[in-house]
Amino acid sequence: MSDAVECVVIGAGVIGLAVARALSQAGHEVLILEAARQFGTETSSRNSEVIHAGLHYPNGSLKARFCVKGRDMLYAYCVEHGVPHRRLGKLTVACDEREVTSLDAIKKKAEGNGVANLEWVSGDDAQAMEPELRCLRAFYSPSTGIIDSHALMLAYLGDAEAAGASIAYRASVRRGRVTGDGFALDVGGDEAMSLDCKVLVNSAGLYAPSLARRIAGVPPASIPKDYFCRGVYFTLAGRAPFSRLVYPVPEHAGLGVHLTLDMGGQAKFGPDTEWIDGVDYTVDPRRGDKFYAAIRAYWPGLKDETLQPGYAGIRPKISGPTEPAADFVVQGPGDHGVAGLINLYGIESPGLTSSLAIAEHVMGMLPQ
Ligand SMILES: Cc1cc2nc3c(=O)[nH]c(=O)nc-3n(C[C@H](O)[C@H](O)[C@H](O)COP(=O)(O)OP(=O)(O)OC[C@H]3O[C@@H](n4cnc5c(N)ncnc54)[C@H](O)[C@@H]3O)c2cc1C
Repeated sequence: MSDAVECVVIGAGVIGLAVARALSQAGHEVLILEAARQFGTETSSRNSEVIHAGLHYPNGSLKARFCVKGRDMLYAYCVEHGVPHRRLGKLTVACDEREVTSLDAIKKKAEGNGVANLEWVSGDDAQAMEPELRCLRAFYSPSTGIIDSHALMLAYLGDAEAAGASIAYRASVRRGRVTGDGFALDVGGDEAMSLDCKVLVNSAGLYAPSLARRIAGVPPASIPKDYFCRGVYFTLAGRAPFSRLVYPVPEHAGLGVHLTLDMGGQAKFGPDTEWIDGVDYTVDPRRGDKFYAAIRAYWPGLKDETLQPGYAGIRPKISGPTEPAADFVVQGPGDHGVAGLINLYGIESPGLTSSLAIAEHVMGMLPQ
């Protein structure tokens, strides 16, 4: 069977769904192709579900710009659409003198990103806010929150479908080619077919670079190398004695083993960082040993045997362990020379927070 549609969005994660929503609401005909049986089964449901304020990204980067803009868009969207979320606030804590110096640098960077509402908190005041917390100094970010990411994706999909978009599950794009008049796609799965489209959005997350390499006509030099960096979470048995999010000073590939709460009040710690060769969501219970030490730096009262293996997510990296962290890469025709093609690479954290801003940016790269 061969078919044609104006726009194809590959991948029903939070980014693909946000882009499909924007395209369909702008009046385009949209088909979302998703390899899995449902939307959001990969990175978009394997993360911290934090609405980030925009503290940690280099000034002027896409991560910083999309996070700060996307955060405000997301809070407004959640209110309008009844998506469960809570603006809990976050304490970033320094537990030794070296970290106090780093805290200063993070606050300056955040202010350079336009996050102007951070407040210094002394160790004593932090303890007054969160009695179980121990640190030398902290700053408080009132704009950080948590969100039900599944409800968010359901809302994006609902908007897209209400505007006429369709979604096909178990429809894995195997390969494609640039035809000169758009794209020809070879789709596998339940109903294997050939599909032609004029606009192609590659939002395949971890698989976006490898998929781009299977689309003949996309310049190979434009496709970044992919790296996978797994982060596992451990959940706390019983209720956490915290009401805000608590983050240590970040490490190279992630934000450190932080404490987040989900909408049900369940506390989870993570994600750690482990560079791996392929997609593997196994949680090795032995990694918990390192968690106790990392968490006790700011919560000495954590009891033995209270952490349980939770789940794993994989950061879709496009820079390796020894390289400087890469920015988000959103490539349009002006970058790779292929009309109608958008490739989204390296959409790691804060991609969930940034989803609406990324979708808006993608719309600006396509002819209206
Ligand atoms: C450990 C971790 C913690 C994070 N924490 C946060 C956080 O707290 N806050 C925040 O803002 N961001 C966070 N992020 C980042 C955020 O989760 C991601 O940026 C976001 O989920 C990426 O969404 P996506 O749609 O690009 O990818 P995905 O959710 O991976 O979706 C891609 C989809 O494409 C499909 N697909 C792949 N190949 C094909 C194909 N060939 N054909 C058809 N379909 C295909 C997949 O099945 C998948 O459904 C975190 C990320 C990680 C890894």
